[in-house]
Amino acid sequence: MSATARGATARKTVAELNLILLGPPGAGKGTQAERLQEDFHLPYVATGDILREAVREEAELGRKAKRYMDAGDLVPDDLIIAVVLERIGADEARDGFLLDGFPRNREQGEALDGAIDRLGRRLTAALLIEVPDDEVVRRLSGRRVSVKSGRVYHVELDPPKHEGRCDIDGSRLVQRDDDRPETVRHRLQVYHENTKPLIDYYERQGVLRRFNGARSPTEVHDHIRATIATLRLEDEL
Ligand code: AMP
Repeated sequence: MSATARGATARKTVAELNLILLGPPGAGKGTQAERLQEDFHLPYVATGDILREAVREEAELGRKAKRYMDAGDLVPDDLIIAVVLERIGADEARDGFLLDGFPRNREQGEALDGAIDRLGRRLTAALLIEVPDDEVVRRLSGRRVSVKSGRVYHVELDPPKHEGRCDIDGSRLVQRDDDRPETVRHRLQVYHENTKPLIDYYERQGVLRRFNGARSPTEVHDHIRATIATLRLEDEL
């Protein structure tokens, strides 16, 4: 984008928030996304959720994606990029969006940049929640999900009142296939390999903001909110 176009966009989009959440699986991106949605009322696009739903519905996307997901590998870029670009170009995303789980590699990052540029907008920030690998393994191996409500528990850190049953509707709690310890290790390896170049890419663009995901969800949330408030102020100056 030219400097003039960028200036015009900055003036036009003072209130606009185009955000992405980055971080390893289990960093708490989903938890933060829920809170940020409440704060800023942004449409939330979580590619892992979209893909899992497509698998449940046996949609074509799900059929193509399943074997990669079960193995903890990334699904091919052409499957996921089009889905995301459609969402961020939709009318409901005109005041911004919150992406979780996308982009996952440099190619997806460049596709996203191209789309944002074509919309005459720019990325507000890439929010990176950092957590050490051992902590990721501990968090994900203990994670359990309610088959009905989708509420997430942890056997040690956030157990349900009755073992194996959801507090909300009593339905069964299960472990996601890709939360098994061997698959978690593999997902972490995939994350480091693919996402490191993406982090460098956003760092060079000056849009990367880092958060310590080992802290409590409330502390992380406060820090993110304060950062977004500062970014908005800078935008207005
Ligand atoms: P998540 O819930 O974000 O950990 O995603 C679960 C799985 O969905 C990943 O392990 C990948 O197989 C797939 N997936 C989600 N987002 C993407 C993406 N942006 N690119 C490729 N694969 C993805």
